[in-house]
This record gives sequence, C-alpha cells and structure tokens, in this order.
Amino acid sequence: MGEVILDNVTKIYPGGVRAVDGLDLAVGEGEFVVLVGPSGCGKSTTLRLIAGLEDLTSGTIRIGPRIVNDLPPRDRDLAIVFQNYALYPHLTVARNMAFSLMLRRRYAGWGNPLARLVAPARFRAACAERAEIEARVRSAAELLGMQELLRRRPQALSGGQRQRVAVGRALVRRPQAFLLDEPLSNLDARLRLELRAELKAVHRKVQTTTIYVTHDQEEAMTLGDRVAVMQAGRIQQCGTPLAVYRAPVNRFVAGFIGMPPMNFLEGRLIQRGSALLFGGEGGELALCPEHQRRLSASEGQTVVLGIRPDAAHPVPASAGDIRRAAPEGHGVLRATVWAVEALGDRVDTHVQTTGHERLVCRTAAGEPVTAGQTVDVWVDMTRVHFFAADTGGRNLLAPGAMPGAMPKL
Ligand code: ADP
Repeated sequence: MGEVILDNVTKIYPGGVRAVDGLDLAVGEGEFVVLVGPSGCGKSTTLRLIAGLEDLTSGTIRIGPRIVNDLPPRDRDLAIVFQNYALYPHLTVARNMAFSLMLRRRYAGWGNPLARLVAPARFRAACAERAEIEARVRSAAELLGMQELLRRRPQALSGGQRQRVAVGRALVRRPQAFLLDEPLSNLDARLRLELRAELKAVHRKVQTTTIYVTHDQEEAMTLGDRVAVMQAGRIQQCGTPLAVYRAPVNRFVAGFIGMPPMNFLEGRLIQRGSALLFGGEGGELALCPEHQRRLSASEGQTVVLGIRPDAAHPVPASAGDIRRAAPEGHGVLRATVWAVEALGDRVDTHVQTTGHERLVCRTAAGEPVTAGQTVDVWVDMTRVHFFAADTGGRNLLAPGAMPGAMPKL
C-alpha cells in the first residue's frame, strides 16, 4: 500500500484540449478519495495518468516511494476497475480473478510432474505460488460474498455479480492502490446502492489506498474519506464530504454538491437602519447577526444568495405581515407553488417568488401545501451562503479559508 501524490499535473491532448490543468492531489496511505465533477472535467484523464495509460504533459506523479512518470502501467503496481467489467468470457470467475497473478508467477511452468522429478525445489515453489493465488481468490470471494460463484462463467452472472468479480480481480492483486472509474454506473439504482455499501465495507477491511472517479455527487459523499470536486481540469475543493457540503469554497462547488442542488438568488446587500438585508427579485431577507457582522463591508455589492432546499420551508401564506409568523432567525419570501413532488418520507416543493425566482424546498412528508397555492417560504438565515456575483463566485463567508484544501506540495 502507498500514498499517491500528484504535483502540478497537466495533460494536454493532441489538438490542444487541456484535460487536466496543474492539478495537485495528495492521497494518503489507506485513504479513499473520490474525484467528482461533471462530465468532461478531467476525472478519467487524471485516473488514466495515475495508471500510466496516458502520458503526462508536465508534472510529477509519485506512488509510494517511487516517481512513476516514466513507468509503464504494469510496473506501477495498481489495480484498476472500469465501468465495463471486461471479464474473460471463457474463464470461470475464479480464473478471471486469478488471471493477472497467474501471468506474474515466478515459477510458471514448474508445477508439472516432470519438474517434480528434475527440479523438486522449483516444483515446490510453483505449488506454493499456486496455493497462495488460490487462497487470495478465496479470501476476496469471501469478502464479496461470492464463494458460490467461483466456478461460473461471466455469461451466467448478473451485472452486479460481474462487477463484483471485477472488484475481486483487483482485490487479489493487493496493489499499492486501487483506481476505480465509474464502476457502478452500468448497474441499476438498487444494485448501485448495494454495491456502494459493499465497496465501503471492503475498503474498511483491506484499507488499501483508493482513488474513485464518479460524476455522482451522492456516490462521492457516501464513499469518500475526502472528495475532490473538479471543474475544467482543476480541483476546486478537496475535503471531507461534510466540510465541502457545509463550507463550499465557491458557487460551482455549492451547486454541485447536494441534491436537490442549492438555490441561487441574485441581489444586493442593502443597509436599512441598523440591519443589513439581502434584496433581490425574490424579495428581501434580513441577514442573521453573524452574517451582518461578517458582510458589513460588502454593503451595496451585488451578491448571490445560496439557499439549500432543506433550509427553505414553505407554509400556507398568512394574511397581513408575512414576517410575523416566521420563527426566530428566519426570513420570509412570498411565493406560489408550481409543483409538489411527494417522495415518501419527504416532499420537494417547487415555488416561484413574486419576482419570478424559482426555488426548491425540501421538507419532511406531510406538508399541507398544494400546486397553485400562495405560500410563505421560511428561509433559515443562519444556514444560507453568500457568493460573489462574478464568474469565480467565491464564498464570501469563507474568504481565503478553504476547508480541506490540499496542501501545496
Ligand atoms: P471526465 O472523466 O471528467 O468525463 P475526461 O477526463 O474523460 O473527463 O475528459 C476531459 C477532457 O478531455 C474532455 O474535454 C474530453 O473531451 C477530453 N479528452 C478525453 N480523452 C481525450 C482524447 N483521447 N483525445 C482528446 N481529448 C480527450
């Protein structure tokens, strides 16, 4: 097992596409790090660079103690699991899992009866080698709960079972690190959940350094010790799932992590008497005392307010002053409900403010609101975020402080 360090790694494909752009990432020994981001942001290229399947344009990659820039893939001691399982159809599950170890045997060819006579030491070594491979296959099969499948061929397996074999094949290698590229995306939703939990459990047991690529933020949040959110070939933020969720460094990360996505409203910070307000198309909201203090210097500026769906609570509109009924610390937006999605234990309510801003609110089941109804949306102002209105969209409440940011190597 080893750490994996990427230092200022850049990959420019022929034709000029800058797929990875000065990327720094340090994955600790035994750590599970997820690269997550929208399609085309450079996740797979990063993984392929680590695996040696693509050449670096510049930068350094270290695995364990070795700089591997010029090492071919087979010498990097990594095991890769791709989205398509790529099993050998004519081999049994056991042989598929053992395949790469069989290829690397030191005493291949010395396990036959003739060798037993002419070179007994080599014969014994060949037997020991084979026994070790069989033991590793058995133990990987046990970890993945597929002892009964070892004699089957891939065509007799379901999609989920095939992907388990692909994971098993990686496990038996006992490599420095596992690289997984969207391994669950070919599976249906239920199986994805099941295998996701299994992968996490397997990692807890084997504690092998793992780098996992996905475009699915939920997969990233549930699997990663840390998640690295990528955009346009760069890591925007890297930290524990909760740190990234609670303190996104910019609007891109805020909008990418969390489902349904964060609502964004553009407006201005306005001083009214002693209070600092956010005023936009959607209405006016008074900042909480802590945010008033931290954003007082930004008065007059255009900003983007970020509201997580579960920080917005729609209630049937009260007559008269809309602020009167809201709980302490909440602001109120008057809105009309245009869709209600009941999801069993929770409800997503889509509303449109009088200024035509759309928001999604997520609440526990049983909310008494219906489409077409006028509602007051109670916004928990202690949980909102403020971003710069420019393209960078940095989080104005976390200037300079990047929770979980990668140390510069
Ligand atoms: P992701 O895995 O995040 O979807 P990729 O790493 O596959 O993204 O791709 C990053 C960028 O590099 C994309 O713009 C993609 O079109 C481009 N790209 C990927 N592979 C190649 C290639 N072999 N040649 C040229 N451009 C490529």
